[in-house]
Amino acid sequence: MARVEFKNVVKEYVDPKRGKFTAVTGSDFVINDKEFVVFVGPSGCGKSTSLRMMAGLERQTSGDIIIGDRVVNDMHPKDRDIAMVFQDYALYPHMTIKENLSFGLKNLKRPKAEIESKVKDAAAILGLEEMMDRKPSELSGGQRQRVAVGRAIVRDPKVFLFDEPLSNLDAKLRVQLRVELAELHKRLGATIVYVTHDQVEAMTLGERIVVMNKGAIQQIASPTELYNKPNNMFVAGFIGSPAMNFIDTRIEGGKAVIEGASFALTDAMAAALKNYEGKEVVMGIRPEHIYGDDFAPNVSKDHTLQAQIQVIENLGAENLLYFRIGSRMITARVNPETEARVGQMKTFVVDRSKLTFFDPKTEVRIPY
Ligand code: ATP
Repeated sequence: MARVEFKNVVKEYVDPKRGKFTAVTGSDFVINDKEFVVFVGPSGCGKSTSLRMMAGLERQTSGDIIIGDRVVNDMHPKDRDIAMVFQDYALYPHMTIKENLSFGLKNLKRPKAEIESKVKDAAAILGLEEMMDRKPSELSGGQRQRVAVGRAIVRDPKVFLFDEPLSNLDAKLRVQLRVELAELHKRLGATIVYVTHDQVEAMTLGERIVVMNKGAIQQIASPTELYNKPNNMFVAGFIGSPAMNFIDTRIEGGKAVIEGASFALTDAMAAALKNYEGKEVVMGIRPEHIYGDDFAPNVSKDHTLQAQIQVIENLGAENLLYFRIGSRMITARVNPETEARVGQMKTFVVDRSKLTFFDPKTEVRIPY
């Protein structure tokens, strides 16, 4: 069983400038056999450190790491039955592609026929057959990354670990390789742990996503659940592009009151916000849940606000309209047929059923 478990894993570094610094504050999770799990978060959040501890490239300060059914705390990376793919490919420049693919198995002194057959299969899966005799310098970035993946595949590991494998590629190639990786996962039925700072990559690849910030896991959930039920304002703001809007709001007499507008709460919202009567909350609304009143086909027009359009970004398939509520800049993601001019006072329709509320002190979502 290729599962990976962290039990209260902590990593501290002693840094000459910062002193003792906790990069991972105490992680607990189980990655199931055959699951594709993505770690995502801003730079420095501890996601690479988590992956490197799984690989055995860093020793955790405390806690247990389990791969399969073995505690691997003190096990050397090569004995962990994992294969890691790095951002910079880490290919041997003087070797051909075929030699690069064979190298690991030769080191393990596997029979020649087995090496031949595994390398051939990996090359076929990744479309590398035509370039087996070339050197890495004669390959494009995308092809090199395929070789790096191939080198992991031939080892037939329990777990694949990917550390930002696509970040050196241009945008178009990234999308293409993202699709290839998703297909590869289905085909191999392998357990994959994947680190990225790109939330789109996380949402499209991960069956479950681990969102980290400042060394701490903020939420572990499926992409849909993260999007619809974020644990807190960090997750709500990090997942989704453009980001969720946050609006300072007061709960008064069963209404959510913002500058210039108020929305009647549903019964479920009112019940959840009972203890906030007369108090401040933060209201979250995603840009796609704000419509121009002239183009809001499937949404009740009972809940509106008026604002002056500050900026328009025309993206072709959709337009982004920016306006202010109080000091906050708000984004609406609207159908391009929506009438909009910079400076125009516009009536916007808000899909009330999609409102999300957060406690302003703890920043935790108030569930309803
Ligand atoms: P990035 O996307 O920038 O790689 P990350 O989320 O992967 O970020 P980590 O590489 O896990 O972040 O680093 C987490 C924190 O630990 C950072 O603040 C980093 O500076 C620190 N750190 C990492 N390695 C060391 C080290 N060897 N010594 C001291 N501090 C380190």
